[in-house]
Amino acid sequence: MKKCPYCRIEVGGNLNKCPLCQSRLTGEGGEAYFPVRDTLKFRSFLYKLQTFIVWSVIVVALGLDFLFSIEIPTYPGLHWSLLIVMWLMVFEYVILRQFVPGTGSARKVTIMVFVILAMLLVTAHYLEFMWLAWDWIVPVVITGAMIANFVLALLDRYGNTMIYLLSGLACVLVPCLIQFFRHVPMSITWTICMIVSVILIVGAVIFKGRAVAAELERRFTL
Ligand SMILES: [Zn+2]
Repeated sequence: MKKCPYCRIEVGGNLNKCPLCQSRLTGEGGEAYFPVRDTLKFRSFLYKLQTFIVWSVIVVALGLDFLFSIEIPTYPGLHWSLLIVMWLMVFEYVILRQFVPGTGSARKVTIMVFVILAMLLVTAHYLEFMWLAWDWIVPVVITGAMIANFVLALLDRYGNTMIYLLSGLACVLVPCLIQFFRHVPMSITWTICMIVSVILIVGAVIFKGRAVAAELERRFTL
């Protein structure tokens, strides 16, 4: 039996540390009470490893940029390391979100897409590819995310997906309609995005009408 010299208790099994005070136990261990979970250990090691790599890259980038003023030739004066830091933070945030218990897939998809697109627009602003980001990447990604949320809403049995589908669709449709009625010319991709969101609304009402009604009732109770 192992003993904790500080708590003066005996601890069965073959633990290395005292369950109360985390000090190292003394004495001979008995047979293990609990199996060791190697997969969990391995995963936590991978997680630490990627965190370590990410932080190393952040430190190196900030150092090269601010201490040694190494610039990207095509963008003189740009603090490129800040962009790298932002993207890595987003990367870490997205990874962390994946492990938050009780968040549904629709929520993950919505948050991920929102954060990544926001970052993309910031990057596009600095690296001057705004037209590409706004006219092509953003509408294509949003369309993909809407379709993914629609599929998730169809498969969803607990009824917590609908709100993400509906709010996503509203987010696309409202600015599109405003543009449309103000006769602002819209790019083909945004037009497609708008058409898809209308189709998905019709689809949601046809396939999941009751869930849509329930969700609207829940959100707009007076
Ligand atoms: Zn102890």
